[in-house]
This record gives sequence, C-alpha cells and structure tokens, in this order.
Amino acid sequence: MPKRVCPFDFDFFPQQKIHVSEKEVNSGVLMKNHMKQPVVINTCQSCRQPVDNSPDKCSFCDKMVCGLCGSSCMKCCEVYCRCCSLPDFSSTEESCICIGCA
Ligand SMILES: [Zn+2]
Ligand SMILES: [Zn+2]
Ligand SMILES: [Zn+2]
Repeated sequence: MPKRVCPFDFDFFPQQKIHVSEKEVNSGVLMKNHMKQPVVINTCQSCRQPVDNSPDKCSFCDKMVCGLCGSSCMKCCEVYCRCCSLPDFSSTEESCICIGCA
C-alpha cells in the first residue's frame, strides 16, 4: 500500500516564517490573608521590636529575643540574648558563646 501524500502541499501556502511569541502572563491574584492573631504580641525584650514568628528565649535570663538579638552559643547551642552571650573572637565566623560556657 503506497503512502498517501497529503493533497495539500506546502507549496499551496506561501512560505512564511511566523515567529509566535506567546507571552502568557499568569495573572495570579495574590490573596494576602491578614490572619488576625490573638491579642498576644511578642516583643523582643532586647530591641523592643515586635516578634511575630516564634521568638526565641534566652536560655539564661529567659528574655524573649528576636532573631537578630538572639544568638546561639557555639558550645551548648542554646539561644541567648546579647547580654548573656559574648562574641567569639577566636572564630572568623560570626559565632557567639554564652556566659555559661565562656
Ligand atoms: Zn531584638
Ligand atoms: Zn539573656
Ligand atoms: Zn553555651
């Protein structure tokens, strides 16, 4: 059985180079849910900034500290506030050591 040749040859149409550039803009609607949290607003007791997501507590003085003020001791890996931790100068990286381990 011979192959069927398409009766509509490509010569029928003028050859055009059509560059189709599809720019599909995904118009996603950002629905920002303003989740109303309970009345409790945690405040960093070091810099007084509100801490909205899981504040750390200093393991020494039990102060609530934000991510900037709290630093974990390189020895015991507990979170301490700035008052209760000392910057470790022996390391080139930014690390802290608590006053209990220092
Ligand atoms: Zn803070
Ligand atoms: Zn502390
Ligand atoms: Zn420590």
